[in-house]
Amino acid sequence: MKIGVAKEVEMGERRVALIPDTVSRLVKQGLEVWVEAGAGEQAFFADAAYEAAGATIVTDTAHLWREADVLLKVSPPRERADGQHETDLLHEGATLISFLDPLGNPGGIKRLADRKVTAFGIELIPRTSRAQSMDALSSQAGLAGYKATLIAAAALPKFFPMLTTAAGTIAPAKVFVIGAGVAGLQAIATARRLGAVVEAFDIRPAVKEEVQSLGAKFVEVKLEEETVAAGGYAKEVSDAAKQKTQEAIAEHVKLSDIVITTAQVPGRKAPRLVTGDMIAQMKPGSVVVDMAAEQGGNCEGSEAGKDVIRNGVTIIGPTNLPSTMPVHASQMYAKNLLTLVQYLIKDGVLTLNFEDDIISGTCVTHAGEVRNQRVRDLLG
Ligand code: NAD
Repeated sequence: MKIGVAKEVEMGERRVALIPDTVSRLVKQGLEVWVEAGAGEQAFFADAAYEAAGATIVTDTAHLWREADVLLKVSPPRERADGQHETDLLHEGATLISFLDPLGNPGGIKRLADRKVTAFGIELIPRTSRAQSMDALSSQAGLAGYKATLIAAAALPKFFPMLTTAAGTIAPAKVFVIGAGVAGLQAIATARRLGAVVEAFDIRPAVKEEVQSLGAKFVEVKLEEETVAAGGYAKEVSDAAKQKTQEAIAEHVKLSDIVITTAQVPGRKAPRLVTGDMIAQMKPGSVVVDMAAEQGGNCEGSEAGKDVIRNGVTIIGPTNLPSTMPVHASQMYAKNLLTLVQYLIKDGVLTLNFEDDIISGTCVTHAGEVRNQRVRDLLG
């Protein structure tokens, strides 16, 4: 069986799906691994290192895609510069494992089904203990949360830690993290390591203990409705709950030097939490990092990929933060994919037991059909 590793064509994508260490593990298992020439270059993994790990380096992209039984990628398939769509390069019956953005790009999923590709969307791995080592959403969100704090620290015209110096005492920076999921918790931990005083808010009350265990204060808002959906994700809440949340966090936003927002509701536009009025109340020089900028933004006025200045407050809308740390992002993503590939391939054969929650939850297309109900609903 041939495992193919494609070079990413998405603008700004520096990650690679497998690193040499994971290649050697698959080769030891008797699998053949083909890596597109230069696939790891942007993440500092040279072709020579893949070759030393037992991979075959392939310079003809179309040949690699056509021949691969299992093609591994980071970004969803897209149209290439030569006008060909990556999905059309796969042979019928091939398997693709990648981020697929199934709810944001149902048309792309339909295309995979029409091509009779068995496609696994890595973002759909169940958030269970059993599937933890395949959970690329978490591995990449952790990197993103860490980087968001560093970006905020670099943009802040102040120190993070409290300092007592001969030139006077410096008060620690105040950081407010909104959304304490995987990314938010790593943002909190990083801000704490840098010496900031940290507060955090999340609509899921269950995260209070995790926030406190990192040395941050949890901002509590009592809502009269259920805020947690299946799988532990946040629900979209009513307008009344949104209003109450905004009133409760306004004071904390006002007093913060840095606000980092990470709030997401899967399959929905990101909730708007920080309003223009709140920004106007912040001290000039303060910084907001809106990690949800690409999903519509948690903060009014944020723009994906841009720094916007409003009333002296810098609002940063970073995109694809994991890709800015391609070495560890690729290492962790590769480990997630390795575990999934090893789970799927038994004795050199792809084995699909749709009774298994990991396989049924993650497999989006198979045998010409879109298997995911939410994508089917979107396709109408
Ligand atoms: P996410 O990226 O979907 O959202 C980020 C955070 O934003 C979440 O904590 C969410 O509650 C919060 N949020 C959403 N709407 C909000 C609002 N209006 N106001 C404030 N906060 C809001 O979340 P995630 O990091 O992917 O985590 C989702 C769930 O999966 C969590 O329950 C997490 O504990 C769980 N999880 C479990 C495992 C595991 O068991 N292996 C692994 C990872 C995550």
